[in-house]
Amino acid sequence: MMLDLMHEATPLAVILLLSATLQAMAAFMALKQVSTVDGRYRLAWFIVALALVLMVERRMVPLWRLIHIDEVSSLMDAWFGLAISTLMVAGVYGVTELVTGLKSLADTDVLTGLASRAAVLRQAQYEIDRSLRTKHPVAILMFDLDHFKLVNDTHGHLAGDMVLRGVADIALATFRHIDFVGRIGGEEFLAILPGSDPDKARAAAERFRIAIAAHAFALGEARISITISIGMVVPDTAATSLSAQDVMNAADKALYAAKKAGRNRVVVM
Ligand code: GH3
Ligand code: MG
Ligand code: MG
Repeated sequence: MMLDLMHEATPLAVILLLSATLQAMAAFMALKQVSTVDGRYRLAWFIVALALVLMVERRMVPLWRLIHIDEVSSLMDAWFGLAISTLMVAGVYGVTELVTGLKSLADTDVLTGLASRAAVLRQAQYEIDRSLRTKHPVAILMFDLDHFKLVNDTHGHLAGDMVLRGVADIALATFRHIDFVGRIGGEEFLAILPGSDPDKARAAAERFRIAIAAHAFALGEARISITISIGMVVPDTAATSLSAQDVMNAADKALYAAKKAGRNRVVVM
């Protein structure tokens, strides 16, 4: 088809340019995701990004031809291409949001809003690695509610849930904003205190233990008090490598010792 340059070249060029821009946007958004998502999503995102980049390149060819040759695809095709490009951007945006949402769901404990077990373990490994490299200590605290079964048995499971949320709130209010707290099991939590030597970490743990013991959890008219036991470990920064799981096991031992010694206390190992 010979193009009537006066009547069709301008709208066609504009539509093709818009399509190319939208596709480039989609490709850029997909490429940005490749570097930020976890391994299992990365390959899928890489394929999407590559496909989009190739499409952008294909879109550029008719643009190029429009400038240099007078034979181009019809206006109808161009409009269709624009619609597809718009859907592409919407699609990439939608999937990006979905992946981000799923990721944050997996990283968040639904009951307390703290980090999930997976997220806190990942963070622990990151901080332990950093501690061994920089030789700045990191304290790992594992804490567990004392006689929590009694709270559930006496006041009901919903009251128990409320106490768990309250404990999480006190943890967030007591520890520094650079500290990291997660729920690793039913009524067991982990706190990571970067840059805290054993003395500072023990003081922080004691402050938290006392804050919990002093708090009256409101259950309607009733007020209940609970205590927690804390097991603490500050890994030796001379080690060359250390797994978060090993540190957790050591903290678990310290916690067990705190329970055995009578509860409502901090034990450092
Ligand atoms: P200890 O001082 O030795 O830790 O005694 P405990 O009663 O706290 O420990 P035990 O392991 O005997 O019981 C833990 C209880 O925690 C039992 C379980 O029903 C309760 N629990 C675990 N997860 C949840 C939860 O999500 N919500 C509520 N309400 N209770 C929970
Ligand atoms: Mg308990
Ligand atoms: Mg327990």
